Amino acid sequence: MAKLEQLSQVSPRCPLPRSVQILGVRVDDVIEDEAVILADEMIRAGGAHQICTVNPEFVMEARRNPAFAGVLARADLCTPDGVGLLLASRYLGAPLRGRVTGVELSRRLAALARARGYRLFLLGAAPGVAEAAAATLQAAYPGLLVVGTFAGSPQPRHEPFLRQLISAARPDILLVAFGHPRQELWIARNQPYLEVPVAMGVGGALDYLSGRVPRSPRWMRRLGLEWLYRLLRQPARLPRIIDAVPRFVWAVARYGRG
Ligand code: UDP
Repeated sequence: MAKLEQLSQVSPRCPLPRSVQILGVRVDDVIEDEAVILADEMIRAGGAHQICTVNPEFVMEARRNPAFAGVLARADLCTPDGVGLLLASRYLGAPLRGRVTGVELSRRLAALARARGYRLFLLGAAPGVAEAAAATLQAAYPGLLVVGTFAGSPQPRHEPFLRQLISAARPDILLVAFGHPRQELWIARNQPYLEVPVAMGVGGALDYLSGRVPRSPRWMRRLGLEWLYRLLRQPARLPRIIDAVPRFVWAVARYGRG
């Protein structure tokens, strides 16, 4: 939280968010508007920052992956993504106010970029997806400056090339879709070289924005059933969903804040 503390001293526009520990993972109690203000402050402050959109799968992964836990602990902002975290926070007596998902925050960051003239780079997802997502965002926010799109790969041997590509494009905001935990580890490893003011892992957000993968209907999201929709569409996700739903519920009930 050190950098967030500095940011909120620099600007009184957004108070320092309260955070909640859920099974040892810090989740910052921000709503979407506040996350956007904080991202704007990060860009004005310059230097390298990382935003993570934490969901129950992240929390469970962090429990068995110390490197990932370290990245989340050092991230400048960990937003609550996933209804499971909201329910857990209520159970723990420290309710988070709302969700800030990767896909919605990506859209809001694109709107911020358009308003302020910030430069956006989309990395990851299958070939063609980042380009299609960029087209969707540019249609929604005409004049948005997308300075790069590239499918790439999270493999370490590709890092020198990706660093060159991204550094040359000089983005203010970098969205990385390599799936968690790889995208968060990739950002943490490469940020010292890239120094992008805001870098955020976005998981499947580019797939949604590109229109290649439909999002669950609004009523299912409202009922917290996004996981069920994803399971019906992609049965191969079952092990991940078991981790994110029953195992997560059990662990929170047993270990609480961790
Ligand atoms: N992906 C990628 N390279 C990889 C692995 C994954 O570009 O080596 C992309 C994949 O195409 C998808 C995203 O990463 O766009 C992962 O989406 P998923 O929904 O699995 O991520 P989550 O939201 O669960 O982190």
